[in-house]
Amino acid sequence: MSVEEAREFFRGHGLQPYRGEQVLGWIHRHGVHDYVEMNNLPSDLRAELGNIAPLRRASVADVRRSADGTVKLLLEYSDGNTAETVIMDHDYGVSVCVSSQVGCAMGCAFCASGVGGLVRNLTPGEMLEQVLEAAREVRAAGRERVTSIVLMGSGEPMHNYDNVVKFMSLVNWNKGLGIGYRHITISTCGIVPGIRRLAAEGISVTLSVSLHAPDDETRSALMPVNKAYPVDELVKACRDFADVTGRRVTYEYALIRGVNDSSEHAHRLIALIRGSLCHVNLIPINPVQEAGLARPEANVIQSFVDLLTAAGVSATVRRELGTDIDAACGQLRRRFLKNERGRFS
Ligand code: SF4
Repeated sequence: MSVEEAREFFRGHGLQPYRGEQVLGWIHRHGVHDYVEMNNLPSDLRAELGNIAPLRRASVADVRRSADGTVKLLLEYSDGNTAETVIMDHDYGVSVCVSSQVGCAMGCAFCASGVGGLVRNLTPGEMLEQVLEAAREVRAAGRERVTSIVLMGSGEPMHNYDNVVKFMSLVNWNKGLGIGYRHITISTCGIVPGIRRLAAEGISVTLSVSLHAPDDETRSALMPVNKAYPVDELVKACRDFADVTGRRVTYEYALIRGVNDSSEHAHRLIALIRGSLCHVNLIPINPVQEAGLARPEANVIQSFVDLLTAAGVSATVRRELGTDIDAACGQLRRRFLKNERGRFS
C-alpha cells in the first residue's frame, strides 16, 4: 500500500488514519514481520490489525554469501513461488538487484531466468519485500542502508509496468527507505513502448537497455524480442529517452565468445550509438550451461572496450560480482527448482 492507501484503509476500518502511516514506517524502516514488534502502537490495535490485515511476509528460503561481499537471497512468497535478490557492495554504497517477475517470458538465449518461461508478475509489495530483506541483511553486516536499486533481476520490468512504477514510489517514500529516483535503474530487454511510456512518466530514473548486439541478425538470435522491436527502432527510442529526460542511457552488452565479440561488432555498435547520451556496460557473460555459451578471452574483451573508447563511446567492463554464488539472474532459482525444495546441489 502507498501511504494514501494505508491511511484510507485505516479510515475505512474506523481507525485513525495516521496509524496507517505509522505501520508502514515500521515495515519500511525496520522490516518488521509482526505487528507485535510495533511497540508504539497500543496492544489492542496490534491485535486488531493481526485480524483485519495479517502481515503476509515472504520468507528467506536461501542465502548465499560470496567471498567478494555479494549476497544473494532467495525469497519464497506465500504461494510457494520464489524470486532472487542480489545485494552488491560498492565503494559508493550498497545496491540491491530486484526481480520483477517469477521467471520471464522473453527467452533470451544467455539467461537462466527465461529457461522455464514466465510464472507470474510480482506485486509492488513483493518487490518491496526483496529490498526490505536485503536492508535487514545490510544492517546486520554493519552497513548503514541500501543506497540504490537496479531492476535487473529475473523478469522484464516493462511487462509488469504498473507494479514496477508503484514499487519505485514505495522505495522512494521519504519516511521509509527514501531511495531517490536517480538511484533507481530499470533494465529492459528492449520493449520500445515501455521505454516511451517511462520517458513520459516524469520521474528521473535511469534506463538500462540490454542491447547485446548491434545488428538484427545477431540480436534476434540472442533475443527473440528483437523481432518485435528491431535494433534501429530500439536505439531511436533510447535516444529519445535521453533527449526527453536528460538522463544517460546505459546499454548492456554481454560479451559472448564467437557471437558478438568481434571488432566488426564493435564498429557496428559505435556507428549505432555514437553521439547520443549513453554509456556501454560490457559484461563478460556468466556461462549458462543450458545454452552452451562462453565468455571471450581477456584480450578480446580488452580490444572491444578499447575500440569503443577510442571512438569516443563511453564504455567500461562490469566488475564481476558473485560468480561463486550463481549471482547471475535466474541461476539460483533454477538450482532451487531442479533440486528438492530448500536443498541445493
Ligand atoms: S535477460 Fe532479462 S528479459 Fe531476457 S530472459 Fe533474462 S530476465 Fe528475461
